[in-house]
Formats: sequence, structure tokens, C-alpha cells
Amino acid sequence: MYNLSATSGNTGFGSRVFRYEVTGLRQTSESDQTDYDIRRSGSTFFNVPYSRMNQFMQQISRWGGKIVSIYPLGIDTPPPPAATSAPAVEPQKKAKADIPVNIYRPNKPYMGKVISNEELVREGGEGTVKHIIFDLSEGELRYLEGQSIGIIPAGTDAKGKPHKLRLYSIASTRHGDFVDDKTVSLCVRQLEYKDPESGDKVYGVCSSYLNKVKPGDEVKITGPVGKEMLLPDDPEATIVMLGTGTGIAPFRAFLWRMFKEKHADYQFKGLAWLFFGVAYTPNILYKQELEELQEKFPENFRLTYAISREQKTAEGGKMYIQCRIAEHADELWQLLQKKNTHVYMCGLKGMEPGIDQAMTEAAAKNGADWTEFLKGTLKKESRWHVETY
Ligand SMILES: Cc1cc2nc3c(=O)[nH]c(=O)nc-3n(C[C@H](O)[C@H](O)[C@H](O)COP(=O)(O)OP(=O)(O)OC[C@H]3O[C@@H](n4cnc5c(N)ncnc54)[C@H](O)[C@@H]3O)c2cc1C
Repeated sequence: MYNLSATSGNTGFGSRVFRYEVTGLRQTSESDQTDYDIRRSGSTFFNVPYSRMNQFMQQISRWGGKIVSIYPLGIDTPPPPAATSAPAVEPQKKAKADIPVNIYRPNKPYMGKVISNEELVREGGEGTVKHIIFDLSEGELRYLEGQSIGIIPAGTDAKGKPHKLRLYSIASTRHGDFVDDKTVSLCVRQLEYKDPESGDKVYGVCSSYLNKVKPGDEVKITGPVGKEMLLPDDPEATIVMLGTGTGIAPFRAFLWRMFKEKHADYQFKGLAWLFFGVAYTPNILYKQELEELQEKFPENFRLTYAISREQKTAEGGKMYIQCRIAEHADELWQLLQKKNTHVYMCGLKGMEPGIDQAMTEAAAKNGADWTEFLKGTLKKESRWHVETY
């Protein structure tokens, strides 16, 4: 897998990425699947990591394209000349065309080999949550931070039919945990509940399947899907992240992209503020990684935990994520007035009403109506992003 990105895209690892100018591309069932803006006349630009150049060139020849030029991309490299044969493409439109979706569909899923499956909940924590890494090197699956993939569990349902897919937020950046563009990672909690009638313990089908997969196992993967949780291109933006439990998955990807990877055209200089709600300290997923980042980037990354079964509010109640939001209501309200502040919410659906209430109070303290501000400003300006399940 590699990233073919727009001229304005923020892919790349300095001089190890090359920009190809290609003409004469033909739309084929394969190129259609990529969801890229394939142009039959004029030039199309692609950013390709060095390690994928051979594979890319074969693909271009399958699409009938002609490589006109190749430029190394890097901090010290001047930008390539503008295409003469094609009109300039508006960055916003191009960025949209570059969002990969449904490269693999349920009738022909990608078979992803499991590389590792590690427990994330430490001793004394509640439940089981796994960090699972899949190998993508044999296929065409690529994705962006904030997207999800589908998993089709092995076996059949009670009616003997194949199981339906379940969606999972991607927990790695587009470059994967080994930064080689060859993997995708998930963060999966095994669903477990008591049947309300019989009182028997019930385990979720797909989450239990994923809980047990072992290195070498092949898993049916579809997607990617989702355009709601994408990061803005602006490296100076304020990114407020509200996550509970496995809702941390897309935020791990965001934070890695902002602070752990080096990009020639996305050097994050804004503020990232993560509010993370869990039940117990051992349930703080990726705790070490998060705290290392906070230590290293104290000016750009704030980390606020809400540990409901351990911490107490000033009134002596359980510390839920909305209580932390209420504590910082004024500051958050001020941040929301900036045009480049985005809020992302991810986790169980149950978190929404509490956050809505905390924001209603924050707005009221500042003489505003939250419902109106949410609809008329934040949603209108695509700055309020929600993915709850
Ligand atoms: C966009 C998106 C992203 C997601 N990302 C993640 C993620 O990153 N990590 C993650 O772990 N999950 C994520 N999920 C949830 C995931 O898709 C599955 O829904 C989850 O893993 C459960 O699937 P399952 O097959 O194990 O459960 P199933 O076997 O499908 O069982 C689920 C069903 O069990 C019943 N049920 C559940 N709880 C109870 C209860 N307390 N009492 C009674 N009945 C109950 C309900 O009928 C429910 O529909 C995401 C969902 C979406 C839509």
C-alpha cells in the first residue's frame, strides 16, 4: 500500500517521497476503485514513497499512463512546476477526491494477515481491549486518520448465513504502526453483557472473534469508510478530542500524525487537547504513549483524564468526561470561538447527552444558546465531528 496524494496533500517522509507527473491515464475497474481523480487528459500528480516506486510504475502502466517527470519531495526541494496541460485544481476539491473509500467491499474483502494482537487493559482494569495490527502489504487498501474499516467475522450466523461486517475506527496513521505504509491497527473491546431475560453472559460475535485472532490468521477486511472524522489540513488548528474507552482509536492516529511522524507539509504547531474518559486507571488505553507525548510536547498537547470509578468531582460525584468539560467550560468556550478549532467526539453513544449538557452550561455562562451555536456555527463550518456507536 502507498499513498497517492494530491499536489496539496500532506503525505510523505521528506526526500523519501517522490512526486510523479503522469499523463494519459485510463479509467479501469482498478483505477476506479482508488477513488482518485484520474484524469484522461492533462497531468495527474501522485506522491509515492521510494519503497513503492516499482509497484507504482507497474500500476501506471496497467492504467495506460505515461510518466512525464519525477521530482523528489522534501523540505529542501523546490515545488514541482505547475502542470501546463491541465487547469489548476482547487485544493479543497482535490483533497476531497483524495479520500479513499470502499477499496474493498464485502463481496470481495481484503484478506489481512494478523501481525500481532496485544491486550491493552492492565491488571486491575475492567474487560478486555486488544490492539491488533494487520498486514496490508499484499493489497491496495489505504486509508486516512479518522476513517474506519469493516471486519467480517469468520463463520455463519444462527440462520447459517455469513456474518455481517462490523465497523472499527482505525487506530494507526495512514503510514501504520511501523511507518512503512504496510499495516493498519485497531483497538477492539470485547463486547460482554448479561442477557436481560436469562441473566446469562453474552459475548459479542465480531469483537470476540477479533479478541482471539492470532498472528498469521487471515481476517476479512473491507473499506475504508468515513469522512466525518478527518483532520483538517491546517497545522495550526486547535483539535479538541473527547473520547471514552475505545473511542481513543482515531485520536491515537491523530496524535501520532501530529507528534510522532515527520511530514514535509504537515508540521503540527497548533493545540491538541484530549479529554479521555475511562473507568479505572488500568483502563487508560495507550497510557504510556499518551503521557510520553504530553511530556515531550507540553505546549502543544494537553491530556485530561476522567477516571469515573476513582476520581471524584468537587461535589463528590463520579468523574465522567462531561464533568471535566464542565471544569474547563470557559476555556473551551473561548477556543470554540476560533475558526480553526475543531471538536471530535468518539466512543459509546451514551457519552453524547452528558457532553451536550456540559456544553449547554458553558454556552449559557457566556450568554449563548448551545443548540443554536452548534447548528448555526460549529456544524455549518464542519468543525463538530461525532462518531459514536
Ligand atoms: C463507526 C464505528 C466505529 C467503531 N469503532 C469501534 C472501535 O474502534 N472499537 C470497538 O471495540 N468497537 C467499535 N465499534 C463497535 C463495533 O462495530 C461493534 O458494534 C462491536 O464490536 C460489537 O460487535 P459484536 O459483533 O462483538 O457484537 P454483536 O454480536 O453484534 O452484539 C451486539 C448486539 O448485542 C446487544 N447488546 C449489546 N450490549 C447489550 C446490553 N448491555 N444489553 C443487552 N443487549 C446488548 C445489542 O443488540 C447489540 O446490537 C464501532 C462502531 C462503529 C459504527
